Amino acid sequence: MVKGTLYIISAPSGAGKSSLIQALLKTQPTYDMQVSISHTTREKRPGEAEGEHYYYVSVDEFQRLIAEDAFLEYAEVFGNYYGTSRPKIERVLSQGIDVFLDIDWQGARQIREKMPHSRSIFILPPSKDELVRRLQGRGQDSDEIIAKRMDKAVQEISHYDEYDYLIINDDFDLALHDLKAIIRTERLRLDRQKMRNEALISKLLAD
Ligand code: 5GP
Repeated sequence: MVKGTLYIISAPSGAGKSSLIQALLKTQPTYDMQVSISHTTREKRPGEAEGEHYYYVSVDEFQRLIAEDAFLEYAEVFGNYYGTSRPKIERVLSQGIDVFLDIDWQGARQIREKMPHSRSIFILPPSKDELVRRLQGRGQDSDEIIAKRMDKAVQEISHYDEYDYLIINDDFDLALHDLKAIIRTERLRLDRQKMRNEALISKLLAD
């Protein structure tokens, strides 16, 4: 069985990362690709559901999981803890299913070190003006809050060159096409194709 590929996707908030991942999953069968659900200590937002967006845990519970070595990576992001559960990822990858991690640059660094065959993708917004516009959201936030969000976004963007691939999300359909092209390319790599097509290759080479 060919092992699945672990994809790391990072972006500043407002770059459209979640919408791209959701759109990608809609076009792919679930047995082929899954998004990892992280644990977090942050409060559940309206519209979010346990086990769908995150597993919501207390700081004590999170620390217990760290002590049990239950996380492949974890980080403090904007004052809350976030972590990727190790056993689930390893099980799914061993079934030949690709896994997507929607994590920040700190988590991406840890995964790259532990899993050198993982692939990382960074998504950028098309301009600073567009990012501000997207961060303004419903227009209910103060200038101070928007300026804070902008600072955090610029901090995340400053790590873009640690990634294997870079997508500019200007036109959504084009960005989705780029994301699919990366996955397709990774699946066509010689080592993956060799494993998948072992029988064909040995028949072609037989006398
Ligand atoms: P939010 O609270 O808005 O859902 O996510 C905030 C940030 O935390 C996002 O940049 C997201 O990618 C990152 N994040 C979510 N889950 C994880 C995780 O398991 N590990 C790490 N390192 N970052 C995460």
